[in-house]
Amino acid sequence: MVIGAAARVAIGGCRKLVSSHTSLLLVSSQCRQMSMDAQSVSEKLRSSGLLRTQGLIGGKWLDSYDNKTIKVNNPATGEIIADVACMGTKETNDAIASSYEAFTSWSRLTAGERSKVLRRWYDLLIAHKEELGQLITLEQGKPLKEAIGEVAYGASFIEYYAEEAKRVYGDIIPPNLSDRRLLVLKQPVGVVGAITPWNFPLAMITRKVGPALASGCTVVVKPSELTPLTALAAAELALQAGVPPGALNVVMGNAPEIGDALLTSPQVRKITFTGSTAVGKKLMAAAAPTVKKVSLELGGNAPSIVFDDADLDVAVKGTLAAKFRNSGQTCVCANRVLVQDGIYDKFAEAFSEAVQKLEVGDGFRDGTTQGPLINDAAVQKVETFVQDAVSKGAKIIIGGKRHSLGMTFYEPTVIRDVSDNMIMSKEEIFGPVAPLIRFKTEEDAIRIANDTIAGLAAYIFTNSVQRSWRVFEALEYGLVGVNEGLISTEVAPFGGVKQSGLGREGSKYGMDEYLEIKYVCLGDMNRH
Ligand code: ADP
Repeated sequence: MVIGAAARVAIGGCRKLVSSHTSLLLVSSQCRQMSMDAQSVSEKLRSSGLLRTQGLIGGKWLDSYDNKTIKVNNPATGEIIADVACMGTKETNDAIASSYEAFTSWSRLTAGERSKVLRRWYDLLIAHKEELGQLITLEQGKPLKEAIGEVAYGASFIEYYAEEAKRVYGDIIPPNLSDRRLLVLKQPVGVVGAITPWNFPLAMITRKVGPALASGCTVVVKPSELTPLTALAAAELALQAGVPPGALNVVMGNAPEIGDALLTSPQVRKITFTGSTAVGKKLMAAAAPTVKKVSLELGGNAPSIVFDDADLDVAVKGTLAAKFRNSGQTCVCANRVLVQDGIYDKFAEAFSEAVQKLEVGDGFRDGTTQGPLINDAAVQKVETFVQDAVSKGAKIIIGGKRHSLGMTFYEPTVIRDVSDNMIMSKEEIFGPVAPLIRFKTEEDAIRIANDTIAGLAAYIFTNSVQRSWRVFEALEYGLVGVNEGLISTEVAPFGGVKQSGLGREGSKYGMDEYLEIKYVCLGDMNRH
């Protein structure tokens, strides 16, 4: 956590800034010292047409119909980056109508034609990797290197589904009667409503839109109001790649209004959502009257289980990656670190040493590994969880408070002696706090790990092949990392069980979420 005095002053100074140039507000010279060269970022984005503040409806960039806007902040400095259109029911209905119309022609293209468009989009996303990464850091806060990594990861879904578009095979089934022939066709679901969160402003969109467009669906995307700029830039590149008007729309603003419009429309045949469990449940209920297909990727409560027979270095490195990526703000972040008795003290020491080396700061500063949390509410939640744990007997090894940088920076934290009566054992922390929980036997570990309504990701660290099989088979989770803390990839299915969600994203399985199966029975086939 090495932050120089100059950087601290600069971050404090940013709050006062505001030299407006179009809708992008620039930072002061003080701020530029800390390498957050917002002016050059904005100029580059503007010249490549990537700084968009309007919604995209039917291939046109539009203001909200009542000209309302919402402000997008840089969480590292609090400064306003842009004013974007604040849309609602009317704009969403128009976006749905344009998507519905576009579906007819887009779904009738050959898979090869759709594949070419997606491939061009992928190439453009990669060609603009740096600018998109800068945009992600600007509006979401994660370190630039991690943000550029997100662009590569996000783009990989477009590349993968450009390839997979050509492999949507049906079936011919041996018939039950000799004069029949039985076929299975896979066809696109129709118009898709995609609602996405702020923690991966690009990747959460591409892993929905990639398979949707590849299969022939058209989409209305609602990005998070906290991070709409990356979504709009990606949509601009989709237009440049040849995605036709209406096949991809982006609306943002009044989330409940946009959500209601998508959910009540009989023309929208599928809702795909990544976000909180509470909102996911509401959307699922609201999808019932029109019986939409629903995919939900909701909250997790990931255990990282370190057994006595683990390689200490592998366990430390893996748990560190699983816990602290994006400052702990991912649904697959380790939320509980379960450590076996025999290795507990050694692990606590080695892990805390590793956490101590994490560097907190502005995502544009070289060397930063931990950016700010998304907003003050997120920090307050973390503070409440930590206070609750300490009041019930947990002990802070390092961290445990807001960072001296101010704003929404929080110190990377390790807490020991955490038990199952503390809030952080039960609910998603979504911040840079690692609670260490002690266990005795393998059975205890499995019981504690499964004692939650969530079931997204789990991690285990052991050198025993037999133990790893026993444990990953017993874990009630959709994803399990064995001796590995970073497991997400476009080629593997991502998704949860229990209340962590429905459906899978990525891989060949992710395509099925956007396809309907049609069975065709050809009768009277013995006639000559
Ligand atoms: P998070 O806590 O990660 O922000 P949310 O579930 O609140 O998770 O938000 C995820 C996405 O869901 C965001 O795009 C947000 O605007 C959207 N959202 C929140 N409430 C609603 C709602 N009532 N209807 C539709 N979308 C919503």
